[in-house]
Amino acid sequence: MLRTIESLGDLAGKRVLVRCDLNVPLDGTTITDDGRIRASLETLNELIHAGARVAVISHLGRPAGVPDSQYSLAPVAQRLSELLGKPVVFASDTVGASARSAVSELANGDIAILENLRFNAGETAKPDAERREFATMLAELGDCFVSDGFGVVHRKQASVFELAELLPSAAGRLIESELGVLERLTTKPEKPYSVVLGGSKVSDKLGVIEHLLPRVSSLLIGGGMMFTFLAAQGHPVGASLLESDQLDAVRGYLADAERLGVDLLVPSDVVVASSFAADADHEVRDASAIEETAWGASGIGLDIGPVTVDRFAAIIRDSSTVFWNGPMGVFEFPEFANGTRAIAEALTHVDGLTVVGGGDSASAVRTLGFADSSFGHISTGGGASLEFLEGKQLPGLEVLGWQ
Ligand code: ADP
Ligand code: MG
Repeated sequence: MLRTIESLGDLAGKRVLVRCDLNVPLDGTTITDDGRIRASLETLNELIHAGARVAVISHLGRPAGVPDSQYSLAPVAQRLSELLGKPVVFASDTVGASARSAVSELANGDIAILENLRFNAGETAKPDAERREFATMLAELGDCFVSDGFGVVHRKQASVFELAELLPSAAGRLIESELGVLERLTTKPEKPYSVVLGGSKVSDKLGVIEHLLPRVSSLLIGGGMMFTFLAAQGHPVGASLLESDQLDAVRGYLADAERLGVDLLVPSDVVVASSFAADADHEVRDASAIEETAWGASGIGLDIGPVTVDRFAAIIRDSSTVFWNGPMGVFEFPEFANGTRAIAEALTHVDGLTVVGGGDSASAVRTLGFADSSFGHISTGGGASLEFLEGKQLPGLEVLGWQ
């Protein structure tokens, strides 16, 4: 049983450390999608109203275990303050003098945010002892711990795992609600059930396919990972994203899909560009003819083509359950956003449950102008939601009593 905030008892006057996932996309110091901050508000408001002294901890980006100003949480502190409608004290370190004084000066119902967890090597250290040492320093700043960073629950990191062991700990409301929706996808999802996979973290996501195949009606492949499938089918893919060491695994998935009677759909046409750039020349080509443009083997596939879009959209519209992770193309370049936009559009026409998961996928649908309410649920976690759907044990949930 997942321990929830109730299990922590009366929180008035208590110092509550809250792990959020405030890893928002930044353009300089401008937040381009504040969805993850908004998703954290329910828990934070509840703790504030309960009279807790709230200290928020989070990571942002991938600094190398030392302070790096481009990954400062300062812009997040400011946005959080606007959204909460109250001051948020910002500590310029995570477990140092600034953090200690910020936390000690909080009155009941006040809130502070500590600087980026990953400015400390112990947060993501491989050796257990190093993570535990950092978690011990964090634990000194709180009387109890609320874990609410759903996007990181699949990571065995100091602020996700060890900290939850060191203090009385419970899941926050975001984790509760994420799990509520994802459970509907794992226990008897209404069929036809389609899963759409794309994005660029190819090797991270290929493993999911093996576990999902027996559970779904259709698996639609786009984004960067489509080229490993096309290559596995014997097509040249030019300079497109390719994981050559996964070709055998992918051939295995194609064979499994056939045996199980699952539609595993690989794009039949691709938008091929002359280079990886917003203003690159581009042409639609059959998926078997990616190298047959004027750019030859230096051509690079940056989106799914229009025939594929229509085929995918038709399957999605006819589904009763759809889970989508990973943009279909490099949507950050408007010329290569069509596939992603069309898939998002198709999801809005589904009569049933639609879930969009993943940091970039969520920000893609928002930047392309879709309202959150057009989808059943937008998950804050990409890797975490995929691993959950795979049926894996997630360390950050297990430590909160979930099994
Ligand atoms: P999520 O965060 O939703 O889990 P990922 O992080 O795996 O998704 O991938 C998002 C990125 O994938 C986007 O930045 C997008 O530009 C990139 N992408 C999509 N299609 C391609 C492609 N064909 N080639 C290179 N990158 C791609
Ligand atoms: Mg991503």
